[in-house]
Amino acid sequence: MFIVDKYKDLQEYVPGEQPKAGTYIKLNTNESPYSPPACAKEQVFDAMMSTKIYNDTECKELAEVFAKKYNVSTENLLFANGSDEILYFCFMAFCDEKIGACFPDITYGFYRVYSKFFCTPFEEIPLTDDYKINHTEYFNKGKTIIITNPNAPTGIVMPLENIEEIVKNNPKNVVIVDEAYIDFGGESAISLIDKYPNILVCGTFSKSRNMAGARLGYAIASKSLIAEVNKIKFSLNPYNVNSMTQVLGKISIEQDEYFKECIEKIITAREKFTKDLADLGFDTIKSNTNFVFTKHKNISGEELYKKLKERFILVRFFNTERTKDFVRISIGTKEDMDTVVKNIKEILEEKNA
Ligand SMILES: *Cc1c(COP(=O)(O)O)cnc(C)c1O
Repeated sequence: MFIVDKYKDLQEYVPGEQPKAGTYIKLNTNESPYSPPACAKEQVFDAMMSTKIYNDTECKELAEVFAKKYNVSTENLLFANGSDEILYFCFMAFCDEKIGACFPDITYGFYRVYSKFFCTPFEEIPLTDDYKINHTEYFNKGKTIIITNPNAPTGIVMPLENIEEIVKNNPKNVVIVDEAYIDFGGESAISLIDKYPNILVCGTFSKSRNMAGARLGYAIASKSLIAEVNKIKFSLNPYNVNSMTQVLGKISIEQDEYFKECIEKIITAREKFTKDLADLGFDTIKSNTNFVFTKHKNISGEELYKKLKERFILVRFFNTERTKDFVRISIGTKEDMDTVVKNIKEILEEKNA
């Protein structure tokens, strides 16, 4: 009734369903099946009991540990309330009515939502017939480019050389590389930030670092680019990362062995699951992420999604022309995935009966 005109027709992002814990095997939003490191308990609790004072706007302790691990300076870093917040700070900083955005037609849904929200004209470049991003189509666009690498929901990774070519061929514009899934396979573009002032790499602790509910995302870029995003952050929400999350994030970086173990387990489960799906006749795109994008000639994406939901397994279905045959299934524990395989097998058998 009271919303201003420019937001009347806003089409908001629809998050994956978040049912009550324990009712479903939840494989619809690419969360990790594992918890943050248990040793964080005491320090996170201490942080919570110290919240009478404001949290550190610069996330200094986290930034120092992070900078060391990723071999950058703390001035190349900015943290936010999830990488979604990094992305909208970037839309505010680098896109407007004049400078449009450019991204693939099949990719993370938020780019389109933010484009509309910030009244930014946007160009969606179709993926190739085999669902890849053709990097040469992103040269000299005169727009802010956003590439998810590996891409979602396809799971396909682009080689670093191709990312570099996109950056090199858009010297007057910012290229945002969203590396939400890079820890599951692929080479990070962080190594390019000293060479190119126009690349910004963003990432998240939600997927590979088991911290989706803590909300922690980061941006890594040249000092000048980070300073510009900080201008937005400090004008909008300087206290964006709460103290508990800062502590948990720092411990997550310190506990590198634990982190690697979790990732190894997920990758092993992914490979086994992909093989099991192939045995059932599924056509699965080779994944470099913690999910698979898969289809079967005898069942549509929507039907499989619904039938799995009846069996208390949640996966994701995207109802567009080029994605409607597929479901996206996040990788949980080996046991979760075996249960999924068993249920899919039954669903297919029922259909044949
Ligand atoms: C999950 C995801 C994000 C958002 O991550 P948060 O840090 O939880 O906000 C951003 N980009 C892509 C491609 C994602 O899949």
